[in-house]
Parts: sequence; C-alpha cells; structure tokens
Amino acid sequence: MSVETQKETLGFQTEVKQLLHLMIHSLYSNKEIFLRELISNASDAVDKLRFEALAKPELLEGGAELKIRVSFDKDAKTVTLEDNGIGMSREDAVTHLGTIAKSGTADFMKHLSGDQKKDSHLIGQFGVGFYSAFIVADKVDVFSRRAGLAASEGVHWSSKGEGEFEIATVEKADRGTRIVLHLKSGEDEFADGWRLRNIIKKYSDHIALPIELPKEVAAVEGEEKPAVEWETVNRASALWTRPRTEVKDEEYQEFYKHVAHDFENPLSWSHNKVEGKLEYTSLLYVPTRAPFDLYQREAPKGLKLYVQRVFVMDQAESFLPLYLRFIKGVVDSNDLSLNVSREILQKDPIIDSMKSALTKRVLDMLEKLAKNEPEQYKGFWKNFGQVMKEGPAEDFANKEKIAGLLRFASTQGDDGEQVVGLADYLARAKEGQDKIYYLTGETYAQVKNSPHLEVFRKKGIEVLLLTDRIDEWLMSYLNDFDGKSFVDVARGDLDLGNLDSEEDKKAAEEVAKSKEGLVERLKTALGESVAEVRVSHRLTDSPAILAIGEQDLGLQMRQILEASGQKVPDSKPIFEFNPAHPLIEKLDNEQSDERFGDLSHILFDQAALAAGDSLKDPAAYVRRLNKLLVELSV
Ligand code: ADP
Ligand code: MG
Repeated sequence: MSVETQKETLGFQTEVKQLLHLMIHSLYSNKEIFLRELISNASDAVDKLRFEALAKPELLEGGAELKIRVSFDKDAKTVTLEDNGIGMSREDAVTHLGTIAKSGTADFMKHLSGDQKKDSHLIGQFGVGFYSAFIVADKVDVFSRRAGLAASEGVHWSSKGEGEFEIATVEKADRGTRIVLHLKSGEDEFADGWRLRNIIKKYSDHIALPIELPKEVAAVEGEEKPAVEWETVNRASALWTRPRTEVKDEEYQEFYKHVAHDFENPLSWSHNKVEGKLEYTSLLYVPTRAPFDLYQREAPKGLKLYVQRVFVMDQAESFLPLYLRFIKGVVDSNDLSLNVSREILQKDPIIDSMKSALTKRVLDMLEKLAKNEPEQYKGFWKNFGQVMKEGPAEDFANKEKIAGLLRFASTQGDDGEQVVGLADYLARAKEGQDKIYYLTGETYAQVKNSPHLEVFRKKGIEVLLLTDRIDEWLMSYLNDFDGKSFVDVARGDLDLGNLDSEEDKKAAEEVAKSKEGLVERLKTALGESVAEVRVSHRLTDSPAILAIGEQDLGLQMRQILEASGQKVPDSKPIFEFNPAHPLIEKLDNEQSDERFGDLSHILFDQAALAAGDSLKDPAAYVRRLNKLLVELSV
C-alpha cells in the first residue's frame, strides 16, 4: 500500500451515529441488502461520470469499460467492490461518508423512541445507503479518487462504524471507488462466490452496467494459479428499455429501491413507452410509505432524467406537478438534448406536454389502484392524502380527476377514517339529493357532534366531515363533482332543495312568521354580535346555532390566517334558533328584559363553543350562567 499523508480522525455527525446504531440493530434479519446499496451507489457514480464526460471527455482517462467488480477473499474474510465511476475527492468523502445532508434529518432523528422494534421501520422512511456496510462489516475501507484529479489525490476513508472515521490522502492509479468490507465474525458466509452471485441476481439484476465476479476456476494440482477471469453476472441492460411483458414484478421492485433510495417495495408502478411526435419512456412509481421529509420544502423530488439512456439529472422537477412530488421514477427522452439544464427544462414546451401526459399517467395509475386494490389505496391515502389535497388548487385541468381520488371521513363512518370517495357518496345519496354536503372543523370529535348535522341525521343524509387543516382551503377550489355542487352545511341559509317536502317548507314558513317577534327581541339583545337572527330548520335537539355568512371566511381559514399574523376581515355569524326547543319557548315567554338578555347571550356563547370557536368574553359567559344557576337553585 502506498504512503498515507495528512491523516486525521474525524467524528461522524450525530445523526450518522444514530443511524448507524439503528441500522446495525434493526436490519440483522436482512443483512444481504448491504450489497444492493453499495452496488446502487456504484451505479450512480458511473451514471454521473458518463454524464460529466459528455462535456469533459478527458474524465474518462483513456476509457476502460464502465463496470462494477465484486470480489472476495475467504481467508482474509473480506468482500471488495470496485467501480470506475466518478469517484470521490477527500472533501467528498468527508461530507458524503460522514454526514447526512438531507434537510430535516435532525428533526427526524428526534422521533426515534429508543425502542428498537418501533424505530426499525422508521429506517425504511429514511433509506439505508452506504452505512448499511456496517451491518456485516466491523471495519470498512474506502479508497477513492475523483475523476479528473491526479493519481496522488486519492483518498482513504476508514471506519469501524463506532463514532469516528479516519481520512488520509493516498495514491490511487485508477479513478473511481474501491470499498473493502472486513466481515464481522460470523458473517464470513458473504465471502463466497455463489452467495454473492445470488444476492446480485436477486437485487441488482436491473443495474444497467455489468457487475462482474471472478470466474470460479478449479485449481489444477501442480499448475500455477491462472490469472483471474471475470464474468458478468447481471443482465446489464437498462430495465426501462425492456418490454413490459418481459420484466418481472420483483425486477420492477428492486429497480424502484435503486432509483428511489427506498428500503421498501413500491405500492404500484406504471411503465410506458411513448412513440410519435415525442418519444420517451417513463417508469413511474408510487411509494408505499411517505418519506420523512415529504413536507420539507427542500426535500428531493422529481424524476431521474435520462436522455437516450444517458443519465442527465436527478430530481428533475419539471415533469410532474408539486402535489405529485412523492412519485419516483425515471423518464428517458429521445427528444431532449444531452446538455439540457434545469433552466431549459422549465421553459421547454416539449416538457410541458410531457408533464401533462405524465401527470395523467400518475392519476390513471392511482385511479386503477383505488378501483382494484381499495385496501392498498387506503394506505396510500393515509400517507399521501394531504399532499393530494393540494391538487385541485394547483392543477386546474385535472380537477375533476383529482376530486375523484380524494377520500373523506363522513357521518356514515364512526371512526373518522378518510375512506369515502365522492363517487361512493353520490352513489348512495338520497333520492332527489343534488348536492354534496360537508362540514369543516378542527377535530373529528367536534364536527361529529356538531348541531349543524342534526337535520341531516334526522333525514338520513350523509355529510362529509373535513378536519384537516387544508380542507377549507381545498373546498374553496372545488365547486362541484359530477355536476353536483358542494354545500357547506354551516354556511348561509341552508336550502335542502328537493329533500324538504312542500309541507315541511310551508310549516317552516308559518313557524318563522309566528316567531317574528322573538327574532326582533333577539336582534336587540344580541346587537353587534350577530349579522342576523332567524328561525332555524337545521336543528332538532339543540336550542341554537351559529351559521357562517355565505361569503365569509370559515373558522378554519380564519384561524390559519390569524396564526400567520394576517389581518382577518371581521365577520359576524348568523344566530339561528330552534323554535321547538324548551329553552327557546322559555325565552319567548320571558318578561324580564334583563333575563332575556342573559339567556340569549348564553345561548349565543354556547353555540360558538359547539362550533369549536372560542368566546370573546368567557368571564361574562360564566357570570351570566352562574347567575341563572343561583336563581335556579332557589
Ligand atoms: P444516497 O445513495 O442515497 O445518496 P448513500 O448513503 O448510499 O446515500 O451514499 C452517500 C453518498 O456517498 C452518495 O450520495 C455519494 O455522493 C457518495 N458515494 C457513495 N458510494 C459512492 C461511490 N461508489 N462512488 C462515488 N460516490 C459514492
Ligand atoms: Mg445509495
């Protein structure tokens, strides 16, 4: 080995230490995946070299076929991987193999409970990567040289995976990376040609470049050991270029783990070749689980872009709208230029038409999943529903399609699970029902018991219950679905249309007439607190309710705006009372103006509380209520 200079010992970033610990203790039943991860990295490194060499052919340093070699030494108990990809400089090695650059990592790590069972599935959300080498090795040596640097600028990184690593500058004749795993005692089964070959076939067959193993040559006694011959053990062609019918599910799944840097199988995928005016192939995946950084603004998103099978960029964001940012995969275009940049992608009209076609593919894939695998779709919705709800606002053209994919809780369920699609809702709607009714609020418990639902319960009409923070905002972009308009049941003068019989309507009008006096008295008593007072036909059990004006902001939107420090336009609620309620009858008969005033304010405040709002003057409410309680107990 050549001389090492500038040797130093550095500590891993805290998050790396935690990840290492978690990985070593939670992946022991799935050890062999270390090879998949290291091969995946080598393949990425070759992709990068191929791309950079387009502009700088000298990086290829006189050529050599791009490949990965895996070898082993039974006696020394080592497994070695070598690639002639882009390689790493000393600085690269320190950052890439000593820190985790993903934003939000520290936050994510805080969620670790210390309970290995619970934490082990978190690793799936994180991806395993290079550090998985320490599942089987108690020491890892990495020798690397970045393409384009001098042979004297190689780097030797070495670690036992216990908190620190050593780094030194060494001579390395060939560009690329060699990783030597010193197997832990008990893990020597991996220093075996058959074992390695099987693992490579199982997990890495889809890798587009040759992965070579030394050929098993039987030693002939008395003869000199022959020079090592290498043989390719994988298929070594880009998976997406193969016809769909020839690719097995397992191959699609392993390829996904490589492109998505994910640990789990995908939920679904769609592989398509487009020919005609534009020519491209796409392979799009829906992950099973949301990555931990789905809501981080800087989190990686987008597709892996290839141009005529040459890797061009990771995270090409221009091919899908933001609300589909969880989709992973590859797009390989024949029309783009190899030196296409992110800036060009943003402006290129070719990309626009690809984007709308790819968006449609994803939505179709989700529709199919919802239809054929409803249980899986439930899981999808749990993970990605919130993001899908951004869709109608962002993607006007596909609004109806996206709306069809949305899932809500409703009065038909009893656990608040979001499982009701709009098509299901309409399919079981009451005869004559031409509206989609919904109610928004803070929590499921609160909306489930809202007085606004009383009349719907009585008539057996289903109401969607929307309690995600984004819901009210979402509904401001949805006007109708399948020709039926949405109606917020807490808003305006609820008109049940055909669902109210002529007799009902007539009776309601008569009651309203007979209560005109009470309405006037209430208006005077409540004064500035209300926009209007009227007889309600929403109530069966509660005495009173507050409705929101047709054009006013709902409670949720108001709270969001207030929390973000924005000025919220003042709006007053409509006070509706239930003429049949004994408290209202009592109120109507109340002679004392003072008691009338107290009681109406109490009813008003109670209605605000039932709607999940807070009271403007809680002390006044308590005072009034106590006053009545004292009188009651006399
Ligand atoms: P990921 O592959 O998701 O980026 P990894 O933990 O697998 O995460 O790898 C970390 C980083 O280390 C890679 O992004 C890359 O920059 C660097 N790296 C790992 N293996 C190689 C290699 N064989 N050649 C060049 N760089 C590598
Ligand atoms: Mg990796």
